[in-house]
Amino acid sequence: MPSQNDLGRAQAEYNTLRARLEPRLQKLKQVGDHHAKEMHRLFDAAAQAWDEDDRAAAKALSERGHAEKKQSEEANADANALRKELSFSLQALKGARHAVHSQGTGAPARAPQDRDHLANAGVEMIGFDDEPRWRSILNTLPPAGFREIRRIEYIDEPRPDAAEGEVVNRFSPGQSTEIKVYRNPLDLDTRALRYSRAWTLIHEYAHVVFDRCVPVKDQEAWGRLHNNHRLGKHDGAWITPRAKVSLREDFCECFSAYAIAPTRLANADPERYRVMKKIVEAL
Ligand SMILES: [Zn+2]
Repeated sequence: MPSQNDLGRAQAEYNTLRARLEPRLQKLKQVGDHHAKEMHRLFDAAAQAWDEDDRAAAKALSERGHAEKKQSEEANADANALRKELSFSLQALKGARHAVHSQGTGAPARAPQDRDHLANAGVEMIGFDDEPRWRSILNTLPPAGFREIRRIEYIDEPRPDAAEGEVVNRFSPGQSTEIKVYRNPLDLDTRALRYSRAWTLIHEYAHVVFDRCVPVKDQEAWGRLHNNHRLGKHDGAWITPRAKVSLREDFCECFSAYAIAPTRLANADPERYRVMKKIVEAL
């Protein structure tokens, strides 16, 4: 049962994270602004050189301007990733707050906006010591896959093969699947651990979504994207090394990124971001 303790912990974690990230955000904003200012200065100078018919100088200034633009964009992307982490933690806090406040009122513990997809689909959650937090994270996902899932279980020990998650019964249409997530032995920092566990959990959920809910034409479109990338006919970057393994791993890694680090996906690969957005919105 969620308690005031859970809420206090979620609040403390959010405060700590915010205190730690806020100065870095400020710094990144300064860096981004600085490079943006330089970019404008160089582009103006390039335009002037062009007017004066000094094309070599215009070209050189413009190239420097583009380099500044790139640095400014990188700082902004880093800042957005930090903001995403913060909002991720805030979401957990809101989930814990809601779970505590709906106790004792006779109302079932529900996610904000009445969107408890897991409860609606009758999904059982087992072994999570901070269930409201995980529920609130899962409830941000498109609900279609939950209807295919019977239970989601956390197992507090690493698997011998170091895989962090699995889907049981994935390829048996009509049968309920189970998602199992294991402790990651490598992550020592608790925030990083939670982030990586959320990533894994969403990745496994994405397997269910891809195999059971995504229409064949969209599966094929993703397959083409994956194959073109392997053949070098694609400009984007792999979102993680795991994405290279297969079109399914590629989809699941991008689905996780789309859910909790969308800017990272949009920056790494605008086309995958666009295709993923379309697939998710049609679910
Ligand atoms: Zn996978």
